[in-house]
Amino acid sequence: MEKLRYERPLIKRLESEMPNKFGMKAEHFPKSHIDGVAVKDLIEAHGSPLFVLSEKTIRNTYQRAKKAFSTRYPKVQFAWSYKTNYMDAVCNIYHQEGSWAEVVSGFEYDKAIKNGVPGKRIIFNGPDKTIADLTKAIQNESLIHIDHLDELYTIVELTETIKKRPRVAIRVNMDTGVYPMWDRFGFNYENGQAWDALNKIMASGKMDLIGLHTHIGTFMLSAKAYGVAARKLADLALGLKRKYNHEVKYIDLGGGFPSKNTLKGAYLPGNDTNPVFDDFAEEIASALLNAEFSPDALPLLILETGRALVDDAGFLLGTVISNKRSSKGKRSTIIDIGVNLLFTSFWYDHKITPAQDFTHFNEETTVFGPLCMNIDVIRESAVLPLLNKGDHFVIHTVGAYNMTQWMQFITLRPRIVLIGLDEKVHIIREAETMDSFNKFENMPDYLKKFEL
Ligand SMILES: *Cc1c(COP(=O)(O)O)cnc(C)c1O
Repeated sequence: MEKLRYERPLIKRLESEMPNKFGMKAEHFPKSHIDGVAVKDLIEAHGSPLFVLSEKTIRNTYQRAKKAFSTRYPKVQFAWSYKTNYMDAVCNIYHQEGSWAEVVSGFEYDKAIKNGVPGKRIIFNGPDKTIADLTKAIQNESLIHIDHLDELYTIVELTETIKKRPRVAIRVNMDTGVYPMWDRFGFNYENGQAWDALNKIMASGKMDLIGLHTHIGTFMLSAKAYGVAARKLADLALGLKRKYNHEVKYIDLGGGFPSKNTLKGAYLPGNDTNPVFDDFAEEIASALLNAEFSPDALPLLILETGRALVDDAGFLLGTVISNKRSSKGKRSTIIDIGVNLLFTSFWYDHKITPAQDFTHFNEETTVFGPLCMNIDVIRESAVLPLLNKGDHFVIHTVGAYNMTQWMQFITLRPRIVLIGLDEKVHIIREAETMDSFNKFENMPDYLKKFEL
């Protein structure tokens, strides 16, 4: 074994914001490997920073979620939320597991088709579906979740020229006891907008109303809210049965389950406190089973879970650039990962673990990114062992939204690799290059020359 590194002893002041007088527990073990592959080797081969996804974790988490719901309710279908992570390789893992696709734009719709998802297995959400998008979706028999009346009327209009009957659902927003309420998408339940839309669809006779949808929020910390949502959608479904003798095929409760991340300002780590799949499944399944559906007419339960399925499977590896002290003496560590790559650091305290052995000394540290911007802070305050220039570290739980919301700012985006079940490393997205970036730029002739 390597000789332990010497580090100077340190006298520490107790911080008032710490959970107890001994301070926050620091990580006790380095994260030197991901699924059997050494972090050091990954960075050597693919550069730093580097996004790494674990296929094993993706599949395990999916299977855990599936089990939580299917052991409590007989008809369950997941649909992968493309915007959460639409790397094709990631989408296809979910499709191999049996997930349909849930998309919110024409771009995502085309991605799902290109990945080979049958049109009938694509759920099309979102407020901005163009006429071309809707035409395609109708022709492919996709599930169109209507967001507003203008969209409803456009679909009615399209049925004049397209021979197929659109398969539609409406998106419903509602008061589930969690505020602020997400009421900007779909039709409101409490004020009668939802019924108004349903009546218009039924009266038109031009579409097949096959489902009811809601997506009540994201990173929802209340499982009970989903029970409320399921009861309200069940109420609409039963109302349709009473009024029109019409049965919807499915109830779609959207996504919004939290991952294990810790929200900024949370007192305890998300891993210990956030509700898990079983909590949500219990609320939702009970609400649907206890509603007055006849047992042979239970609707299919669709879930569009994104974040909670993929967040854990993503890691961001990086390298320490420098250490310095703030004007008040607080340790500051500058790393090669900024908010351009880790968009979610605006609302999470991401866990950071050194990738090599460290000593038991730790210190409250501000972790800064490399961008020349004051807001480029990855952690305001993290209790970390001492990381030195050139050391590697792993940022955990970054699989959701970062690979779709990342920004190109003063630098190029890095590679993404997937570690397969066989522990082989696959490049699933190349690093950007100056050439790939410049492909989109054009220089007018008269600007080509200058002298300085
Ligand atoms: C974003 C989104 C999802 C996924 O949400 P998560 O919070 O990541 O689970 C599901 N459905 C719709 C309509 C969405 O917009």
